[in-house]
Amino acid sequence: MQTTVALVEAPGKDFQLVDVELDDPREGEVLVRIVATGLCHTDITMRSFLPAEMFPNVFGHEGTGVVEQVGPGVENVAVGDHVVLSFNSCQACSPCQEGIPAYCEQTLLLNYFGMRLDGSTTMSRDGSPVFGSFFGQSSLSRHALVGAECCVVVDPALDLATLAPFGCGYQTGVGTVLNVLQPDADDSLVVYGAGAVGLAAVAAAVASGTGTVVAVDLQAARLAEAERLGATTLDASATDDVVAAV
Ligand SMILES: [Zn+2]
Ligand SMILES: [Zn+2]
Repeated sequence: MQTTVALVEAPGKDFQLVDVELDDPREGEVLVRIVATGLCHTDITMRSFLPAEMFPNVFGHEGTGVVEQVGPGVENVAVGDHVVLSFNSCQACSPCQEGIPAYCEQTLLLNYFGMRLDGSTTMSRDGSPVFGSFFGQSSLSRHALVGAECCVVVDPALDLATLAPFGCGYQTGVGTVLNVLQPDADDSLVVYGAGAVGLAAVAAAVASGTGTVVAVDLQAARLAEAERLGATTLDASATDDVVAAV
């Protein structure tokens, strides 16, 4: 099928809306009509960071949408499901088998290399490859061919635009607090940088009963949001002695 994507033609170039050919779903793949996507800083940095050989490329890794087709062997989602898209994982290596797919041994190949494991790309233009499969999804598109393991089925009553950042930024902050640091009522947690990830960490820390939660940032709006979420705030622009103050 044809679909419209926000394509980056070469390193450092702007996003441009162009039409590309999208493959039919192969084994383990799902066709998703994208409803919303976040724009993460990683999309911006990869646009300049990847080598010229990996362009044109389609980024985007905080997609949400509705499943339109499923390929052979896909059992975790069905046509019509509303899904939040996150990173891809192999489900076969030791970390995946242990239930920690964020440490998948195939992470680089499945999420950053722009193609399937067999070297093919999911998209093409005039017969030439268009790199994608970014975090298994390349969600800066109207339709995306994503890995089934990227999909988390959600209640269709929920707003897909609100859920989009859960696929990367939100879960990064929340996961760091709930899965790794696991602070309790006797602990103090300081979050340096109250952007999307930092604010998610603040929210998780407050919700899980951390004794003291401090957010440090330079921007008043971010500090206000951190305070609203329950953190003590420190304006780093107002002191040269932030570490000592904390
Ligand atoms: Zn991200
Ligand atoms: Zn794995």
